[in-house]
Amino acid sequence: MEKVIIVGAGLVGSLQAIYMAKKGYKVEVYERRPDMRKVNLVAGRSINLALSNRGWKAISEAGIQSEIEKIAIPMRGRMMHDEEGNTTFQQYGKDDEAIYSVSRGLLNQKLMTCAGDFENVSFFFNHQCLDVNLENNELTFLNTETNEKKKVTEGKIFATDGAFSAIRKRLMKTDRFNYQQMYLEHGYKELTIPAADGGGFKIDKNALHIWPRGEYMMIALANEDGSFTCTLFFPFEGENSFGSIKTKADVEKFFNRVFPDAVELMPNLVEEYFENPTASLVTVRCSPWNYKDQIIMMGDSSHAIVPFYGQGMNSGFEDCTVFNEIFESNKRDWEKSFKEFFDTRKKDADAISNLALQNFIEMRDLVADESFLLRKKIEKKIYSKYPEKWVPLYSQVTFSHTPYSEALANGKRQEKIMDCIMAKENIEQLWDSQEVEDEILEMI
Ligand SMILES: Cc1cc2nc3c(=O)[nH]c(=O)nc-3n(C[C@H](O)[C@H](O)[C@H](O)COP(=O)(O)OP(=O)(O)OC[C@H]3O[C@@H](n4cnc5c(N)ncnc54)[C@H](O)[C@@H]3O)c2cc1C
Repeated sequence: MEKVIIVGAGLVGSLQAIYMAKKGYKVEVYERRPDMRKVNLVAGRSINLALSNRGWKAISEAGIQSEIEKIAIPMRGRMMHDEEGNTTFQQYGKDDEAIYSVSRGLLNQKLMTCAGDFENVSFFFNHQCLDVNLENNELTFLNTETNEKKKVTEGKIFATDGAFSAIRKRLMKTDRFNYQQMYLEHGYKELTIPAADGGGFKIDKNALHIWPRGEYMMIALANEDGSFTCTLFFPFEGENSFGSIKTKADVEKFFNRVFPDAVELMPNLVEEYFENPTASLVTVRCSPWNYKDQIIMMGDSSHAIVPFYGQGMNSGFEDCTVFNEIFESNKRDWEKSFKEFFDTRKKDADAISNLALQNFIEMRDLVADESFLLRKKIEKKIYSKYPEKWVPLYSQVTFSHTPYSEALANGKRQEKIMDCIMAKENIEQLWDSQEVEDEILEMI
């Protein structure tokens, strides 16, 4: 049985293990951390992720949709909370469209279990990849329990070892390998809205809650146990920043001023603020993603993005679907498939990377802006009347499988049209008129 080696049993590595197992390969998965199914998930690091159509497609093709549905909570729109505590709901797509809140830890555990159910999959935990010898494709792992080194050979390598990939680090020393990393000036911290007494949800569980405040924002996604994981995206430095909030009194004063309705729901706010880590947000781009027919990178190892479009994992999962299609259409020719995968996918990864950066501004600022909301209302009307002519960018990215690069290009065209429309005098009164509709149709 031909062997493949997967380095990193995160979300993408575990899913890719299933894809390769189904094809009949002997799959060895090496993971730096201990088996997360045997350890308690650490509070304060319980990111929940928004899973959307691209991710679901990959999950469904792996044959594990029903397992994942058990841990997914639908969110049909954004619930915006203003500084007075008033809320406004904005539906994401059509009535039957939603994105899904899933716990990253639980999802990872489930994917590992589904992969481990295949006889031809073996997991090696506490195995940190240190290096790969490109001459003979020999991987060196450190067993972090015994401190012994282990060499592993003979197998195509899938590098799914995340944004700080050890394999990418090795490839960076090869000729003409391009690499770029960029940190945001904002970091994030996780906080919690605990479940109500008796286990219910204190706020609507079927919405992604946003407290947009211009330079920063907080979001909250529901967990199955009735709690919400909140994430504060906040500058590291400046007037309102992680750097400026230093004492218990600072936290209380600041949160009471800007997130008053949330504070009431967060009894452990101050402790969590100081106990939970502050993490940074990085964008990684590199090329190529393959080394000859020996190594291919997937997921964050080759294209880590900021989380503001909710597409990091979804794009990583889509890597699995796209690779699978290419691999089969090339009759499992490794070299051709690795190259074609990179050639096809790089532009899409770059597109979603740019969209994710742009969407930070939309989420933290524009969603509370009247003119932006009107723009969305007009788009929504055109979409509902002419879905074959106009699909809003958010829907293309989140609810379709249109390649990200095409979605980005379509979005730019739409933006130009909407800029013209929004510049019309009295658009606030005219927006629902036949005149505006005709103008848009003419420009499409
Ligand atoms: C705050 C935040 C919110 C997010 N929200 C969303 C969202 O709503 N929707 C969405 O789609 N995405 C979201 N993401 C992005 C998503 O978490 C990532 O894109 C996704 O986890 C990438 O999966 P991966 O398998 O490529 O990498 P990872 O999940 O990071 O997995 C990499 C694995 O490799 C292991 N590893 C690392 N180095 C080594 C080594 N040297 N040897 C062996 N193993 C190693 C790690 O331990 C880990 O298990 C968010 C990210 C953040 C930070």
